[in-house]
Amino acid sequence: MSGGGNTRELRFTHFGAAGWSITDGETVVLLDPYLSRVRFQGRRYGPHDATEIPDDPRPVIKIDEPAGSDAATIDRHVPKADYILLSHSHFNHAMDVPYIANKTGAVVIGTESTCNIAINGGVPDAQIHAVRGGEDYDYKTFSIRVIPSLHSALSCKLYKDFGTVPLKDGDTPLRLDEYVEGGTLAYLLRMGGREILLFGSMNYIEREVEGLRPDVVFVASAPPRLDIHDYTGRLMRCLGRPPLVVATHWDDQGLPFGAPQDKALAQTPAFVAEVKAASPETEVFVPPHFQTLVLDARGAMRVAE
Ligand SMILES: [Zn+2]
Repeated sequence: MSGGGNTRELRFTHFGAAGWSITDGETVVLLDPYLSRVRFQGRRYGPHDATEIPDDPRPVIKIDEPAGSDAATIDRHVPKADYILLSHSHFNHAMDVPYIANKTGAVVIGTESTCNIAINGGVPDAQIHAVRGGEDYDYKTFSIRVIPSLHSALSCKLYKDFGTVPLKDGDTPLRLDEYVEGGTLAYLLRMGGREILLFGSMNYIEREVEGLRPDVVFVASAPPRLDIHDYTGRLMRCLGRPPLVVATHWDDQGLPFGAPQDKALAQTPAFVAEVKAASPETEVFVPPHFQTLVLDARGAMRVAE
């Protein structure tokens, strides 16, 4: 927990899925930036196929086929990045990492699988920091505690996604099904005099976060959370009932940007109610795509104008 006189305004912009841009006005840290919104088909866990909508212009990408990044969308929304944190290596978190890291020069921080995605995508070795969970790294303008964590129990606990993203030869792109989870991490980001706890999937290891007192928690909030015992309540209590919660990973990632998210949004009041039941004073935000939240120097959060 912070406070005091050295706090600076922070801005958080939501990229959909578990994706965020976080900045103190100088350094830009991304989390799980996935903007390509692939129209996938044949996924083994979670939704099998991307949700169908009329007149979807996107090509269908079968799970055993490679997919390219949507450079135009990324260029529009990610002008700058200094660091990219990855919770895990599924394509809907990590596939845009090489394009963004190569374009911006950002340092990629993640598991062996995340590092392999970066290496396969031609990211220079000097821009790849491998972590396993447990590290506490100083980066001068911020620091991160890397927290061992867990992936959500997709498909009613039938989820099994073992292994590591392979290193490929030459220019062979990764197929969608080669983006295995590769382990899951959470991050405690200390920046601008604040502590921000970041999750990218609907699970956590209670003993790894017990006793943390973050100013803001980004909680993955899609319905697979309901496969976890008292998911929201346990988290709120072990974090000492944090003042601010931001719902992340609430959307239907199979839909392109601009498509209605009504069905996914309709599920979010239940999550907000769970937070409120465990921690009535907590303020909860459910940001739509590309909304920016501002945490001001006094510790109040608001939607940017
Ligand atoms: Zn995942």
